[in-house]
Amino acid sequence: MSMTSVRGRFAPSPTGPLHFGSLLAAFGSWLAARSAGGEWLVRIEDVDRGREVPGAAESQLRTLAAFGLDHDGPVEYQSHRGHLYAAALGRLLDAGLAFECHCSRADVAGAGGIHRSCRRGAHRRDPAMRLRVADGSRVAFDDAVHGRVIQDVDRAAGDFVLLRTDGCWAYQLAVVVDDADQGITDVVRGADLLDSTPRQILLQRALGLPRPRYLHLPLVLDDDGRKLSKSRASLPVDDADPLPALRAAWHALGQDPRRLPAKVSLPATLEAAVRAFDASRIPRGPIAATAVHNAAAIRHA
Ligand SMILES: [Zn+2]
Repeated sequence: MSMTSVRGRFAPSPTGPLHFGSLLAAFGSWLAARSAGGEWLVRIEDVDRGREVPGAAESQLRTLAAFGLDHDGPVEYQSHRGHLYAAALGRLLDAGLAFECHCSRADVAGAGGIHRSCRRGAHRRDPAMRLRVADGSRVAFDDAVHGRVIQDVDRAAGDFVLLRTDGCWAYQLAVVVDDADQGITDVVRGADLLDSTPRQILLQRALGLPRPRYLHLPLVLDDDGRKLSKSRASLPVDDADPLPALRAAWHALGQDPRRLPAKVSLPATLEAAVRAFDASRIPRGPIAATAVHNAAAIRHA
C-alpha cells in the first residue's frame, strides 16, 4: 500500500486523439495529484465498444507521455474489468436496489427520458438493468470549483441504466466501481460530468463505497459557445511540441503565467507547474477557445 493520501486519475474514452479539452482534464488532474504529493492513475474508459476508435487509446497514451504527464501503476482498461461491474450489479440486485427493465426506448422517451416505473406487460429479449431511484433521492455535494451542488436524482435522471440493452456496462456503474477499486480519493475532470456526479454518489451509497472529493474543471467552448467538438481547437494537440499547449492549459486553469519560466525544458516547466499550482485559482468557466491562445491546438487549421 502506498503512503500517499491523494490518488487522482485521468480516464479518457478512446474515441479519438487528445484535443485541448482533454489535455486540460489530464493536466488539471495530474497537477492536483502531483502538487499534493499524490499518485496519478490512467484508466481507459472503453466500455462502449461501439464508440471506440481503433488506435485511439494508444494515441492518447503517447500524447500523455509526450507531454511528460507520467502515471503510476499499469494503465487499466474498463473492457478488462467486466467481472467487477457484474459483481457490483449482483450486489445491487440481491439488495433489491436494481431491476431488470423491459421498457422500449419509446416508452422511456415518452416519459421525458426519465424512467420511474416499467410499462406494464413490456417484454424484450435484451432487457436493461437499472438502479431503482427512490422518490426524494436528493444528493448534495461540495465541488472544489463549483461549490455546493444539489440534484433531485429521481427527477433529473430517474432510474438510470447500469447495464444497457446492447450488453455494454453503463458509464455510471463502471466509473463508480473503478474509482473505489483503484482507491481514487480525488476526481478531477471536466464540468460536462458535473450533472452525472449525483448519480455516481447514489451508486456509491447503494454499494457502500467511499465518496471521493470532486473538482470539475471548466469546459472549453468553441467560438460559438458550443462544447468543443467540431471547431479548430478540437483538433489533436501536437505531441512534437507540447510546451505551447501546456502553457495554454496552464492559462485556462487560471494559473499565474509568471510562475512558469520561459525557454526551459518540458521537465523544468512541469516541475515549476507542480510547485506553483493553486486549485483555488481554477475558474468555473466556461473558457472560450479563442481566449486560450492555443497555438498548438489550432496549428493544423
Ligand atoms: Zn422499465
